Formats: sequence, C-alpha cells, structure tokens
Amino acid sequence: MVDPIRVADVVVVGGGSSGCVVAARLSENPDRSVLLLESGPGYRSMLDCPVRDYRVVPMGAGSAYAQIYGVELASSVRSTTVRGRVLGGSGAVNGAYFIRGTSTDFDLWPGSWSYENVLPTFRALERDIDYDGPWHGKTGPMPVRRQPAERWSEISEAFRDAALERGYPEEPDKNGTGTGGGGVGPVPLNVDGGVRVSTAMAYLLPAWNRPNLTVESNTDVVRILFSGNKVIGVEVETEGVRRRIHSRRVVLAAGPIETPILLMLSGIGMADHLRDNDISVILDAPGVGSDFSDHPEVALPYRVRGSLHRDDTSPVVETVLNTGDIEIRPYTAPFDVLVPGSGQRDQVLGVGLMVTESRGDIRLTSDDRSDRPYIEYRYAQSVSDRRAMREGQAIGLDLLQSPAMSRLVVPLYEEVSDRSALAHLGTSHHLCGSCRMGGSDDATAVVDERGNVRGVEGLTIADTSVLPVVPSRGPHATAVMVAERISIFLAE
Ligand SMILES: Cc1cc2nc3c(=O)[nH]c(=O)nc-3n(C[C@H](O)[C@H](O)[C@H](O)COP(=O)(O)OP(=O)(O)OC[C@H]3O[C@@H](n4cnc5c(N)ncnc54)[C@H](O)[C@@H]3O)c2cc1C
Repeated sequence: MVDPIRVADVVVVGGGSSGCVVAARLSENPDRSVLLLESGPGYRSMLDCPVRDYRVVPMGAGSAYAQIYGVELASSVRSTTVRGRVLGGSGAVNGAYFIRGTSTDFDLWPGSWSYENVLPTFRALERDIDYDGPWHGKTGPMPVRRQPAERWSEISEAFRDAALERGYPEEPDKNGTGTGGGGVGPVPLNVDGGVRVSTAMAYLLPAWNRPNLTVESNTDVVRILFSGNKVIGVEVETEGVRRRIHSRRVVLAAGPIETPILLMLSGIGMADHLRDNDISVILDAPGVGSDFSDHPEVALPYRVRGSLHRDDTSPVVETVLNTGDIEIRPYTAPFDVLVPGSGQRDQVLGVGLMVTESRGDIRLTSDDRSDRPYIEYRYAQSVSDRRAMREGQAIGLDLLQSPAMSRLVVPLYEEVSDRSALAHLGTSHHLCGSCRMGGSDDATAVVDERGNVRGVEGLTIADTSVLPVVPSRGPHATAVMVAERISIFLAE
C-alpha cells in the first residue's frame, strides 16, 4: 500500500540533541506544521525512555540505541566512533557532561556568533540548580547540576586532591565567567531526578500534544528532494517502505556524520567525489564532510590496589581537570561498567586534547546508503598535537603517581611517548564541523551565519555539523545553543 503524500511546512531530519529543540521551537507557532523524522526508536514519556540511566553510556556493541562507525584515527590506528540513534540522539546516550565552550572558542566563529552574542542563549536554555548570577540561567528547559562533593566516588576525591597537591587551581564553576581559566572542579551535568535529561525530554515531550507537531520515529530520511536548486521535500523509509514527504523547508539535524552523508547522497558535495560514486551533482560544495574536528583522547589505564568506593549515584565522570588545552577525566568505574558491552575491563584516566590541529573527512564509499562511510580523523599528524598529547600523558601519569592517587592505584604503563599515545588513542566522540558555517568571505563554508545551505533554496542545517570547529569543552550544550539560535532565525 502506498501512503498518501504528506505535506508539512517544515520537515526536521533527525530528533537528536539539536533536532528536538528545532521541532519544539518551530511548532510554538500554531500556524506552522512541523514534522520531525527520527531514524531510531521513540517514546512518548520520560518513563518510557529506554536510555534514562545517566550512569551508563549505552554505546557498546549490539546497542539498540547507537550507530557505530569504523574509523581511522591515525595512519596506524583503526577504531570506532558512535552516535546516538534514538529520540534525543547522542545527547540521550552520552556522558551527561553539559558545559559551554569558552569565550575564546567563539573567536573562531563568524562575528554574529561572538561569545557576547551567544551567552544570552546559553543562559536561557539552562536551569542551573546550583549557581545563580550573570553567567547562569535559572528558568530554561535543560537542568544543570553537579554531583554533591559528599557523594563523590573515591577516585574522584583522590583525583581532586592530587590536582590540588600538584598546584592546579580549583574551578568550582566550570560554566562560570567564560574565560576557561581551568582547574579542577565538578562537571556540570544535565541530570535531574536521577535521569539523564536529553533535549527530547526537556523540549520535545512537553510539546508532544501540539496539533501542528508530528514526530515519526523509526523513519530514515534517505534523500532530500529538489526541483532545480529548490528543496521540495524528502524521501523516507519506514520498515522497508519508501514514501515522499513534501515541504518547502527542510532542516537537517541528523548529526555531524549523517547530515553530510545525506547531503552527498542527495547531490550536494564535492562534485568529483559525487561523480566517482555515480551521484548526479546538484551543487558542488567541497566543504561537505570535509575538515571536521574532534577531541583525541589517550586512555591511561591503571590497576586498583584494593577496591574503590563508588556511590550508586555516581555519573560517568564527576570532576575533571582543565589545564591549557588538556582535559583530564577520572572515569568513575571501569569501562565495561560504564559502557555495557564494551568489553574494556580497565579503569582509566582519559586525557583529552581539547584544541587540536587535526582535521578529518567523511567520504562515501558508494551511492548505497547501507554502505558505511570512510571516516578519517588524521589525529596526531602535527608536531604540536603530538607534543600536547605527550604533555597530557605526562600530567596524567604525574597525577596517578601523586601521593593522593598512588595509595589507591598503580598505572599500567609509565611510558610517555608518541608510540604509547597512539597505542592508547581513542576519540571523545565530539565530532563537529563537517558542514562548517562561515561568513561571506569563507569560500569553503557550507552554510551561512543563519545555518542556510549556500547555493540552494529551502535547506538549513541546525546541528553540530555547522560548528566552525569543535569547542574546547564538550559540545552538547553548544549543540542546544546552535539549535535555539537557528530556530529563531527560521521563525523570523
Ligand atoms: C558516546 C558519546 C558520549 C558523549 N559524551 C558527551 C558529554 O558527556 N558531554 C558533551 O558535551 N558531549 C558529549 N558527546 C557529544 C554530544 O552528545 C554531541 O555532540 C551532540 O549530542 C550532537 O548533537 P547533534 O544534534 O549534532 O546530533 P545527534 O544528537 O547525534 O542527533 C542526530 C539524530 O539524527 C538521527 N538521524 C541520523 N540520520 C538520520 C536520517 N537519515 N533520518 C532520520 N534521522 C536521522 C539520529 O538517529 C540522531 O537521533 C558525546 C557523544 C557520544 C556519542
């Protein structure tokens, strides 16, 4: 049976961290019909959400809520990265660490996205339960709180003591002045009532009953449809059945891997690459899938001397040290506890390089959507990135060997070198910037400062694809901020 053709004023592709915000905001106008299409499973109430438990990251092999991609992190290092595939997207399965980029991060964005311009949106989207004042919001949809110090796990306490012993400053409020001064302190968490609060919960579910908003989950958008260079809708597949949906405005929020893939499969991308894959070119846009950035992360495994106390409310990570471009994360349990199905039994300190020169590419391997893309990170190629990763390893090892930590743990390797960094290299899964935003003088930017795809009509991107570069902190709060601002532009 063929479904009748559907029509919506706006189709939002992807109900992830950004897409849920866009669908909820745009449907505030009762005269605008909004259809949100999500590949993964959905749910209609917080209680039905299958990924509420903030203490685990359901991204291990066989997860029903994650899409796993094979990647090449560096020339000798193959690995995987993962994205959430469920209503709420990656923000529904992530570490629940909800922090803003620093003010200097936004110096790399077009002028209309200066820190001064985006701070009011960061404040408006949050409800900070611990802090008040000029840097915080008290009434927004996203709850933000920190794990109370009296509930910290033994490893977090020892890590904090070690950092203070070594002379690093305390940073009690990591969403504070915006200068990103650094230090050791509690991570802001989008956790409330024992639940990881995704944008699906904070924005979409409260809007669910609006007559002008429809959410279709388990529905894959397979192609954007054009007439000339004008968008006329999307082709979707639900349980093997294909349909067309007509709309004059399509907002892509399929995340930083699937958004460029969908563009390329629809004829927007580097022309030679599209032709090589037998795809008709609608627009030559070399920036699609190109020059993304992410945070390399070197794991420093350690053995626990006895056993470590961990509260049953412990999040994945409850405190971090930011120093220079390095972030050190004492995960609160071994990875096979935090990521069921990961098979990784070690407990680790994660050493993240938060400002990196490496830029990667996402490329198709055929014109068939079911073929996995080729994702190349090019981590550790520059001299300065390799030096920074060695410095990060050295800081991490020094903390593990400090009096406060060494009474509890023994590092499982002590070599600080490029070789050991590559042997323990992973990624933070913070991929951003695969369809970069840029001002009119930026020839390779894919979208303009309002998120509209240049060179076609009716197509907007509102997800972490458009970030000029990954922020020097986790990108989740920035994904929400970007979606809020692009929704305002679309509603004007
Ligand atoms: C395991 C993990 C841990 C992380 N931890 C943190 C953290 O603690 N703190 C932090 O700040 N950041 C973290 N991040 C990063 C952060 O969650 C992401 O940057 C952010 O959620 C990305 O938002 P997005 O809207 O761009 O994409 P997503 O949230 O990934 O949303 C994309 C959505 O589109 C859907 N979709 C994809 N293709 C299609 C299609 N063709 N048709 C229909 N729907 C489609 C997907 O199913 C998904 O729901 C983590 C990410 C991961 C994966």
